[in-house]
Amino acid sequence: MSVLVFADSSENKFKKTTFEAVSYGKKVAELLNTSLIVLTINGGNATELYTYGAETVVEVKNDLKIFNTKAYASIIKQVVENKGIDTVILDSSVNGLTLGAFLSVELEAGYVSNVIGEPLSTSPFVVKRKVFSNKALAHTEISTSKRIIGIAKNSFGIYEHKVDGKLESFEATLPELNVISKEINKATGKVSLADADIVVSGGRGMKGAENWGMLEELADVLGAATACSKPVSDLHWRPHSEHVGQTGKPISCNLYIAVGISGAIQHLAGVNSSKVKVVINNDKDAPFFKSADYGIVGDAFEIVPQLTEKLKEFKQH
Ligand SMILES: Cc1cc2nc3c(=O)[nH]c(=O)nc-3n(C[C@H](O)[C@H](O)[C@H](O)COP(=O)(O)OP(=O)(O)OC[C@H]3O[C@@H](n4cnc5c(N)ncnc54)[C@H](O)[C@@H]3O)c2cc1C
Repeated sequence: MSVLVFADSSENKFKKTTFEAVSYGKKVAELLNTSLIVLTINGGNATELYTYGAETVVEVKNDLKIFNTKAYASIIKQVVENKGIDTVILDSSVNGLTLGAFLSVELEAGYVSNVIGEPLSTSPFVVKRKVFSNKALAHTEISTSKRIIGIAKNSFGIYEHKVDGKLESFEATLPELNVISKEINKATGKVSLADADIVVSGGRGMKGAENWGMLEELADVLGAATACSKPVSDLHWRPHSEHVGQTGKPISCNLYIAVGISGAIQHLAGVNSSKVKVVINNDKDAPFFKSADYGIVGDAFEIVPQLTEKLKEFKQH
């Protein structure tokens, strides 16, 4: 029985969350005294995965140019059955979360998402996970013979563990698909919220859609994605895809900059596990300051342009 990590990729490049999932997989394989297999589907360069401990990289190449849950779950299932896998590890990207639920049905495997840290024990198999919008931790036992673990972003870390890995190609059959393997739209150059290390987020304090230019400029300088609070997307100032929080996308980035956001619990629930939070708000009593690492009390319309200029100057040196 081995451990399998699915290495998610986009446009033939592995995502950062993939390296964390492989690092985690290596740890689990060590604890279970078994080997680590990493599966890539039209992914990047396998040698990158050897760096993090992938002893075997199983490579599937086909015409699929976009992520398709049914096809990917089918390929993973074929590899699981072919290699005698009992533990599958996924990251918590949108793809990973969709696959987890689908695969658990396909494999009749127990699936636990939002897992942090290494397993607490392997017999019984118990993991620690974040629950209730990250307000509490639960110890969850997975008692099925096959198990799927979805690890929370930025919860384990990326560790180098160089091995002389080997590459195997795998011929997988594809199920009948409704979605044709069409070309993905060329990248717009914008950083996707799901993969972003830095997020610049705006709230109702931004007063209107017309003022988002300054947040986009700040995001551009930082190589960040943009996000917003719920009322902002409800008011159609920004698309719903940017809404973060309890009912929006949960994010866990390295740097979250909140501009004109009060810090309601429903907002915090989706962003609080970000490593460093910077809050810009003109109300010194705004609740967000309580969970901020750095706070700036003042008018966003004065502070943000100054911050952007300073960062531009800094980047030139
Ligand atoms: C069931 C439920 C689920 C919810 N889910 C979510 C969710 O997923 N995500 C989410 O965001 N919300 C969610 N909400 C809504 C949440 O309760 C808050 O209403 C919302 O987060 C407030 O958004 P805001 O901070 O942008 O606006 P406000 O609360 O109106 O805050 C605006 C802030 O901007 C500041 N400000 C104003 N002018 C300036 C200026 N010139 N410069 C700097 N600062 C300024 C103000 O001081 C204020 O703090 C949910 C609510 C419910 C009931």
